[in-house]
Amino acid sequence: MSSAIRDLPKHRCELHVHLDGSLRPQTIYDVARRRGLKLPAEEFEEFKDHVTCCYGTNKSLLEFLNVFYTFHPLIRGDTAAIEQFAYEFCEDEAKQKVAYCELRYSPHYLAELKPRDGLPYVSAETVVRCVNNGLRRGCHEFGVKIRTILCCMTDHPEWSMEIVALADKFRNEGVVGIDVAGEEILDPPAKEIIDAFTRAKELGISRTVHAGESGGAQNVLTAVEVLHAERIGHGYHVLEDQSIYKKMKSLDIHFEVCPVTSLITRSQHSLEDHAIRQFDVDRVNYSLNTDDPGITQKSLNEEHLLAVNQLDLDSCSLTRCAFNAATSSFLPKDEKQELIDYLKTMHGIPTETSVTSLSNLFP
Ligand SMILES: [Zn+2]
Repeated sequence: MSSAIRDLPKHRCELHVHLDGSLRPQTIYDVARRRGLKLPAEEFEEFKDHVTCCYGTNKSLLEFLNVFYTFHPLIRGDTAAIEQFAYEFCEDEAKQKVAYCELRYSPHYLAELKPRDGLPYVSAETVVRCVNNGLRRGCHEFGVKIRTILCCMTDHPEWSMEIVALADKFRNEGVVGIDVAGEEILDPPAKEIIDAFTRAKELGISRTVHAGESGGAQNVLTAVEVLHAERIGHGYHVLEDQSIYKKMKSLDIHFEVCPVTSLITRSQHSLEDHAIRQFDVDRVNYSLNTDDPGITQKSLNEEHLLAVNQLDLDSCSLTRCAFNAATSSFLPKDEKQELIDYLKTMHGIPTETSVTSLSNLFP
């Protein structure tokens, strides 16, 4: 079975997907039962409703984030489970024909920092080691390349400097950058987050920030100017301020857009005037991502179908997204070139074609 998945031709890239938003509900259920923890519902079908949030249910970003708070206590600090989640993620990405992916998570949210009910203390660093182990095994077995981004959380800015230290410590073991996630509190960002992002820049650690999802265009500007973000998670509301939008385009800031979650969390109200349409028309540097496929129960393939059928993107746009993601990935220069060359082979483009002239191929 795994050799069939390993040998699948893979031509997609995604840069914005959360590990804890990608868990298989069945695995969460099995882990919680093995640990003897109290479940929100005893039967799996009902339990699944508590750990997913499907398209059409119209939740606010905060309600959506509450789903995470429901299942975090069930899996937190379980080192075997964390490794298994990372391993299973590789299989799920390979099935979606993803060649390269950047997976993000908050090591602190998956750690057991305040032991409860006799469960042992598990540090954020142990979580990073478990994720790395699972990914190493899974990438090898399923033929995908996955790197990680460690998330600072707006509700716990005091963890931020440790995130930078962990990103630095594990930079040769797959960690390629840092992020800020959680409720969009960037007006202004907490001092600890600003200090951490400044330090990350000094250390050459790449940076992305969730901004302009529930918040406004100013947050996108803050992310870039104050937190030195090279990429923006979501960023739809940048369109509300044309001068900021123009500036982001001139800086070639990459937008990691996530169609399904943008609709579930109502950060975009309709498909008709969705920001992605404008990004595509204006040839903004953006990519298509799943964000939280375990919670939304929508695969990358389904995101692409939604983009084509309901946002009127064509196959050239999807190809452009794959190359945008590769060129804006946080990979070191030589590995990035290798990925771009590999994608060219997958998309039937001569290897000697330069990245800048790719836009002529996909006008
Ligand atoms: Zn996200």
